[in-house]
Amino acid sequence: MYSKIPSIHPLIDNGITKGDPNFSGGKLYCHCPSKKVEVTLASNIAHNHACGCSKCWKPKGALFSVVGVIPVDKVFITANGDKLYVVDPSAAIQRNACKECGVHLFGRIVKDHPFKGLDFVHVELSDSKGWQEPQFAAFVSSIIEQGFNPTGVKEIREKLKKEGLQPYDVLSPTLMDLIATYTGQKSGKLPSKL
Ligand SMILES: [Zn+2]
Ligand SMILES: [Zn+2]
Repeated sequence: MYSKIPSIHPLIDNGITKGDPNFSGGKLYCHCPSKKVEVTLASNIAHNHACGCSKCWKPKGALFSVVGVIPVDKVFITANGDKLYVVDPSAAIQRNACKECGVHLFGRIVKDHPFKGLDFVHVELSDSKGWQEPQFAAFVSSIIEQGFNPTGVKEIREKLKKEGLQPYDVLSPTLMDLIATYTGQKSGKLPSKL
C-alpha cells in the first residue's frame, strides 16, 4: 500500500538498538530549548514497548510512543519541576508533562491499580545509551481510532514483527496476566499469595 511505511517511531523505523543489561539509569529532558525539565532515573527501565494508544506522548510524526516502566522510588525531578502539570488528573496514569513543550516526563499512578508503584517513561528523552530496547508493540489497533487508515495496519504489524516486536492489540500476555492476577486477588478468587 505504501511506497514508504509511515514512521512507527524513530527508535524502531531503522532497526532497534539493543540496550545494555548492566545500564544503571540516566536523565530525561523535555524539549524546551532552555530551562529544560530534568528527571533523573536511578535504574534501567522494564517492559519497554511501542504503544499505539492515544494517551502516551509520541514524537512528532510517529504513530507509536515508546514507553517503559520504572519503580516510583527511582524517579526524581531534578530541575525545573515547576513547569510540570498533570495532563488528565482523572486518568489512571497521571501523565506529568511540560506545560511549555508538551513532552510527557513521567506517568504516575495514584489510585489503586495493577501497575501502582511504577512510573511510565519515554527514554528517548535521555541522551544516555543503554536503556532497555522495546520488547513488543501494544495497542496496535488503537492507531485507527486516531485516524490511521485500517487498510494499512497489516503493513504496520508486518514492519513491527520484522523489527522483532510482536504486535498486540492490548498489552503483552505477561502484562495482561499481571493485571488479571491483581484483579483476581482483589476479588478474592485468587489467593493473595501464589
Ligand atoms: Zn519543556
Ligand atoms: Zn500508550
